Formats: sequence, structure tokens, C-alpha cells
Amino acid sequence: MSACTTCGACCHSYRVEFSVYELDSLGGPVPEAMTEVVNGSTCRMKGTGVVPIRCTALEGELGQLTLCRIYEQRPCPCTELEEGSYGCNKARVRHGLPPLGEWLGN
Ligand code: SF4
Ligand code: SF4
Repeated sequence: MSACTTCGACCHSYRVEFSVYELDSLGGPVPEAMTEVVNGSTCRMKGTGVVPIRCTALEGELGQLTLCRIYEQRPCPCTELEEGSYGCNKARVRHGLPPLGEWLGN
């Protein structure tokens, strides 16, 4: 089972910003209602532009049971962040969770 289902640290750590062309209103997958405008070409998941960061699409409790409500429609920064990567482990450690590398064989 993916460690993501009991984590959610990245969804509590980064500004999730991406091109407006990923919005459903412009033919992309991401529900526009869950985003806010950054500028004419960039938008951001609500909740990730303020501290403490928590993406509006996340359900559950950090480090316990978590679920992305738009998993199949999530934007590029989320699809590109690999479990066990530097960015993943940086977020995990920031929130007191152990890094993943070794047991993933990386
Ligand atoms: S920080 Fe890593 S393990 Fe946690 S939800 Fe994000 S990608 Fe998954
Ligand atoms: S869209 Fe989903 S995967 Fe991306 S930060 Fe929000 S809750 Fe996490």
C-alpha cells in the first residue's frame, strides 16, 4: 500500500501552483472551484498559499489517514512529486514523519 494514504505531508508543505491551462474551465482536469488566481497564467490550489498550508482537496489527518479528493484530476506538481523523492521526504521530515528511501529501495 502506498505510504501516501497515511501521510499527506506534501499537501501540507508546498505552494501548489500550476498553469491555468490545467483548469477544467480551460479543458484541463483540475476543478477550478478548488483553486485561486495567482496571475493571468498561473493558479494555485486553495489552502496552499497560506501558512499553515493545507490543500483544500485533502481529506483526513496528516500522518494518519489521508485522501486526495481529486486524485485523478490533481495538477502537475502533485503528479510529478514521487513517493520517496527528495521533495517527498523533505515534506515528511518537516512534519515529523520518517523518510521513505530505504524501504522503497531508492
Ligand atoms: S509526502 Fe510523500 S509519502 Fe507523503 S503524501 Fe506526499 S508523496 Fe506521499
Ligand atoms: S491536489 Fe491532492 S495531491 Fe495535490 S496537494 Fe492537494 S490534496 Fe495533495
